[in-house]
Amino acid sequence: MPVAVELRNLRKRYDGGHVDAVDGVDLATEEGEYLVLLGPSGCGKTTLLRTVAGLEHPTAGEVVIDGAVVNGLPPRVRKVAMVFQSYALYPHKSVLANIVFPLKAEKLDRAEREKKARWAADLLGIEELLDRKPRQLSGGERQRVALARAMVRDPQVFLLDEPLSNLDAKLRAIARDELKRFQERVGTTTIYVTHDQAEAMGLGDRIAVMDRGQVRQLGPPVDVYDDPADTFVARFIGSPPMNLVKRGGTLVGFRPEHLMPAEHVQGEKVPLQFEVDRVEYLSGDRHVYGTVTGLGEDTRVIARLPSMMVGEVTEGSHEFAVSADRVRFFDEDSGLRTDPVRLGATGG
Ligand code: ATP
Repeated sequence: MPVAVELRNLRKRYDGGHVDAVDGVDLATEEGEYLVLLGPSGCGKTTLLRTVAGLEHPTAGEVVIDGAVVNGLPPRVRKVAMVFQSYALYPHKSVLANIVFPLKAEKLDRAEREKKARWAADLLGIEELLDRKPRQLSGGERQRVALARAMVRDPQVFLLDEPLSNLDAKLRAIARDELKRFQERVGTTTIYVTHDQAEAMGLGDRIAVMDRGQVRQLGPPVDVYDDPADTFVARFIGSPPMNLVKRGGTLVGFRPEHLMPAEHVQGEKVPLQFEVDRVEYLSGDRHVYGTVTGLGEDTRVIARLPSMMVGEVTEGSHEFAVSADRVRFFDEDSGLRTDPVRLGATGG
């Protein structure tokens, strides 16, 4: 039965630090959930994970695993397995010896240890590699060895800290998919740290978006994408990020894929004048750069148009629009979401 992890008003300030690396986080996973911590470098993701693992002691607050407060308990008894960015495999040991290593401290005989290692290797598809040394493996294979080593301890919780960051883009996409399917099979509660929003969107049951030690928003990928709680989340998630146009004290936000030639927008729409100055061709999309006028202050924005959808978009002035129900509003000072404002929409 998978267990849940809960953090109650967790704080961590390092010796000599002037701010809390983790600044009052309340967060609970579901049992068996894949929770992704997403945020820019330095926002406290690793610190949070290390505090759950027991490698750091919180300055305040509680870490609860499977219903019990584990503050003060050493990492080993917490039944968590952490896989770091650098896999930290023993270079001179074989893959098998690396996987078996954490079991040495447990009262298992050699045959049982090996059986367990082979079970994990089989699950991760690395049974052919058991006699090799880490340097004879690809980055993705090393990652699987590190995962297998984490698995043999029967962890109740996986803590993964950017485990894919050493892989090239192609291998990363494959490893991401593997990791997700693997987690679905074993069903172990997983907290996964990344600064890569595409990875977070692809892997997470829910995403906790962090900034400067705090959780800005927690929700399923579709929610943080479609309904960002503030401008930080709106900009951090999505590539290119959400367009934000200043209008009085309000920021009017819309995603690049929702800015389209007016004739393609169904229903009630917010019309805009789009002065296009550059078009970038990507594989399946076009990124169209320019300035919107007439909505608020003249602002540079990006539209993302599927190549198959429209004909040529050329430099110059175009009638564009955004579907009214795709527009989001934020307070300029606080950055927080606000109630919708009427923008002189037409149609519907
Ligand atoms: P990254 O994605 O770059 O790994 P992160 O989100 O994981 O970043 P942390 O490593 O948790 O961020 O760091 C959070 C803050 O705490 C940073 O400001 C960092 O400088 C500080 N910090 C981290 N470790 C220590 C330490 N051992 N002593 C003092 N300050 C630290």
